[in-house]
Amino acid sequence: MLHTIPPDSQGPLTAPMIHAVETCVHCGFCLAACPTYRELGQEMDSPRGRIVLMKEVLEGKLSVAAAQPHIDRCLGCLACEPACPSGVPYRDLISPYRSVVRSQTRHSIGQKVRRVLVKWTLPSPVRFRWAITSARLGRWLRPVLPAVFRPLLDLAPTSVPPRQSWPSLVPALGPRRGRVALLTGCAQQVLAPDITAAALAVLSQQGIEVVVPTTQGCCGGLAWHTGDLPTAQRYARRTLDAFPDDVDAVLTTAAGCGSALHEYALILRGTPDEARAERFRLRVKDASRFLVELGLRGTASDTGLRRKVAYHDACHLSNSQGVHDEPRHLLRAIPGVELCELAGSQLCCGSAGTYNLDQPDIAEALGEQKARAVIASGAETVVSGNIGCLTQLEAHLKRLGSPIRVRHTLQLLRDALLPPV
Ligand code: SF4
Ligand code: SF4
Repeated sequence: MLHTIPPDSQGPLTAPMIHAVETCVHCGFCLAACPTYRELGQEMDSPRGRIVLMKEVLEGKLSVAAAQPHIDRCLGCLACEPACPSGVPYRDLISPYRSVVRSQTRHSIGQKVRRVLVKWTLPSPVRFRWAITSARLGRWLRPVLPAVFRPLLDLAPTSVPPRQSWPSLVPALGPRRGRVALLTGCAQQVLAPDITAAALAVLSQQGIEVVVPTTQGCCGGLAWHTGDLPTAQRYARRTLDAFPDDVDAVLTTAAGCGSALHEYALILRGTPDEARAERFRLRVKDASRFLVELGLRGTASDTGLRRKVAYHDACHLSNSQGVHDEPRHLLRAIPGVELCELAGSQLCCGSAGTYNLDQPDIAEALGEQKARAVIASGAETVVSGNIGCLTQLEAHLKRLGSPIRVRHTLQLLRDALLPPV
């Protein structure tokens, strides 16, 4: 029991944290599912170990500093949730804990600089594009730059596609079957705007009118997962204000963003916006789930081309939102696609938001394992539903000299339903 939580730690997030801690029966079934436990082999880097650490800190029996390295190493991948027979809601513990102890956490100068840079650039497509361009130029200076900047330079893509913009309303083609609003994301807009283009094309072709709110911005997911509650709340409120009520669903195409939108009620817990965040959450869906529930209208023509496609489960789709079968269903609907499963498919690829900047060694190891699993599958294309995973897979496949293409589920579907003429 967390009855000894210091008064200054008490707040609206305390009750969910207590519930999560009290649900754990310490059985250890989650250990084998945890990527950091598998990598490091230490109890304190497992879900069970971290739950004990967080409990002890919250009860004032352990210092924040003693627990911090193990908490920092948690990917937030939530692989521990489906593995837990007791139903411990680990998501109600890790980000709330990080936000509660945030003022007491200590980071190295390097981590602080990287966090400030990420916080300043990522939520703004204009600044993010500028940062990537600067990083590309900065690569020439890599040997003389301080080590703190190297993970940023190493992870920056060598090129970014041209800027794209979308109308605020994309009409349905043919008889209208629904009306949705689409979150365009921030990093995705810069790194792979074609994913949004594909989503709009597929939805419109399927008879769905799409609203693209012009005042939307960053969903706040990155801030939330690093424990920056005030920033996450600010972005969550802006998103709630930006999206209309008169739509059947609010669709996301990036697992990380979708997961954050589902957690708005927790982010805004105890504030006047909690109830509308809960109502909003109920309308949020990954685009693949929406399309499967709606049912695909018409089929793609069979070109006779056969190809092997591997699907990579983004943690924030499968573990966080329970979206596992739907993308596979859509991919199987594409004539000629032979879908194959990846060995260790439940394991995180190491991208996990900004994890690959903060914990480059573990992220590297996980990214390489995942890329090797993709290569071993014999697939020509690997598909996923999250921009972070796609970027991580692309970087590691390239490093291993693999020509395997990396695509979003909706890009493959768009190319089948609306082949270029
Ligand atoms: S499986 Fe669930 S109950 Fe068992 S140790 Fe892990 S979190 Fe606790
Ligand atoms: S969220 Fe992922 S890394 Fe963190 S404890 Fe759970 S399984 Fe392990």
